[in-house]
Amino acid sequence: MVLAWDYCGACTSCKAGKVLYCLNFFLHNFHGARPDGTTTLRKGDQVVHGSFFCQSSFADFALANERNVVKVQDDAPLEVLAPMGCGVMTGAGAVMNALQPRPGASIAYHLNILGECRSDWQSDLLLPLLFEKIPHIPFIIVEDALSANAPHIRKLQRHKLHFILGVKPGDHAHLFDYVAQAHARGDTTEFERQVAGVTQRFRYLNDAPLNASNLDVRVNFLEYWEIQGNQVQHFTWITDFHHPRQCPHVDARGPRPLED
Ligand SMILES: [Zn+2]
Repeated sequence: MVLAWDYCGACTSCKAGKVLYCLNFFLHNFHGARPDGTTTLRKGDQVVHGSFFCQSSFADFALANERNVVKVQDDAPLEVLAPMGCGVMTGAGAVMNALQPRPGASIAYHLNILGECRSDWQSDLLLPLLFEKIPHIPFIIVEDALSANAPHIRKLQRHKLHFILGVKPGDHAHLFDYVAQAHARGDTTEFERQVAGVTQRFRYLNDAPLNASNLDVRVNFLEYWEIQGNQVQHFTWITDFHHPRQCPHVDARGPRPLED
């Protein structure tokens, strides 16, 4: 069995097949009891509230409603089914029902739903799934600096998934030194432009080693400053996308070198 959320089945949203937007959603999922106020749990005479998402299933046994129980095959992989009750159903529903993307559309999908399980789940299950089951869709994996490590990048490369990952000087000292040296030699591509009173400054370097112990993991480095008055925001990423020597978005005068 796989458990998901409950819904009333009688309101206008439910009757329209949009059970995620059930008008009685709170009563059925966050009320700590059945909609009529009775509880599914007790200790002796004592009332115990539960029924979170109409299940409270962090136990050997759980009381649920037939509406939020889905029977699955005995040999179905539980580790793949487990995230479906929440993350995939809400996410897939949002994409297919609300966004209704046309061919060629791009979608940003936030996967930080599984807390500490995230990395393992993404790496070992989700990434191969994305590549093997739907290879015709070009994915771009965007993650924070925790994911900018050699084993993870090798995995992304193996599955031919594009990536944009954050990097930080403290965690990637070798990479930042490498870029600084390239900058000193004039090997980086740099330019800035003004957009609505904001200065946008870019620095690119292709084909840099991720770190000293993984010189074979080559990445493209992108650094970006956004400057407005005294406020400066600064971001750094690595990606498999090749930065063009000249950015097509630069104004007609073309890229201009940065001043130090
Ligand atoms: Zn309803």
